[in-house]
Amino acid sequence: MPSPIRLKKRKTKCNVIDLKKTLCLDKVFLYLKRPLPYPHDSPIILGTFSIDLTGMNHSETLELSLQLLRQPSVTPVDHSCQNIMADRLEKIGFNIESMRFEDVDNLWARKGTQAPVLCFAGHTDVVPTGSLDDWNSDPFVPEIRDGKLYGRGSADMKTALAAMVVASERFVAKHPNHKGSIAFLITSDEEGPSINGTVKVVEALEARNEKMTWCLVGEPSSTNQLGDIVKNGRRGSLNAKLTVKGKQGHVAYPHLAINPIHTVSKALAELCDTVWDNGNEYFPATSFQISNIHSGTGATNVVPGTMNTLFNFRYSTEVTAEELKARTLEILDRHNVNYDIEWTLSGLPFLTPVGELVNAAQNAIRNVTGIETELSTSGGTSDGRFIAPTGAQVLELGVLNASIHQIDEHVNVADLEPLAEIYEQILEGLLAN
Ligand SMILES: [Zn+2]
Repeated sequence: MPSPIRLKKRKTKCNVIDLKKTLCLDKVFLYLKRPLPYPHDSPIILGTFSIDLTGMNHSETLELSLQLLRQPSVTPVDHSCQNIMADRLEKIGFNIESMRFEDVDNLWARKGTQAPVLCFAGHTDVVPTGSLDDWNSDPFVPEIRDGKLYGRGSADMKTALAAMVVASERFVAKHPNHKGSIAFLITSDEEGPSINGTVKVVEALEARNEKMTWCLVGEPSSTNQLGDIVKNGRRGSLNAKLTVKGKQGHVAYPHLAINPIHTVSKALAELCDTVWDNGNEYFPATSFQISNIHSGTGATNVVPGTMNTLFNFRYSTEVTAEELKARTLEILDRHNVNYDIEWTLSGLPFLTPVGELVNAAQNAIRNVTGIETELSTSGGTSDGRFIAPTGAQVLELGVLNASIHQIDEHVNVADLEPLAEIYEQILEGLLAN
């Protein structure tokens, strides 16, 4: 018979609270194990018992996250995520407005009628899971392993949505008569074409002159540690489809053909070498990247008749899309290239300089995590690009982005309550009386 072990009371209590916070359970079953000395390496189970945790402090952010993660809301399907959020917000005095455009559900919720308006923005849709066999657990049955919450949308961005709701509930409980208004702009089409989502809601709000002062987008902005990076802007994105026209012929009779690869190569080299700007305090220098080149018949003895190229500018606020177009055309013309070009502007650059919103976020992050956050404009585009042109200050702040869109997407459970606290402190900083 193994001899009874003595539990260190204080340590056991801490462990139970950690477990309960992690697992969101009302009861925790403890398996008491006693390690055996070498050569036996497996422990003996001494017994099990349960502890009732009802009434102890639950992680509300985790609970709501689990609820949202159980909804298989692949773009443009919201499932019932927005209803779950709206139910909670309605209870604390939000006016709920569903705005469905075509197959996309959008939610506009607002508490208060006065300015200034702090709007939480985000999306309930998630990217497809990919092969289920590659996941270690079902992407729509959230699971916690080693302190990490796994599930599609856990990082991008359902846990942030949960933190926003919980933060608002706590703030409203403390400040029922807060200044201004709190709003939520939630779409189920951020990961897809983004045609009937945020952009349409913003148009509807603009049409009735309803303005946001500050907008906090819950996209996963953090890199190594919660709050280490917030995005206070995004670069613009300009695409071009360039078709270079030549004349097909035999390689042995080049005087009878015009080789489009030859005519454009010097121009492309110059485009690659051009310094478009030097960026500024907030933006890196504008970049030019060729993403595709296609030409040729596959035969070694045929001069091709055309060459097709795709390229992209990620550009700062130091240049405009029109300037980039004009400078590109000037280079092509100077090299006597015969071409057609089609441009698509997929996003204007935007920037929120240091001001009320940035300061409130920096203070909140410092108070909760003890770190100084860094402002960044790196990364892809987000729905912030539709909101910023209305004149609102826009900031993206959320959990770590290392696993977004990947197999086994996950988030640190320990980051969820601090994120809710950060959001709540931003509310305190901007709307407390
Ligand atoms: Zn996202």
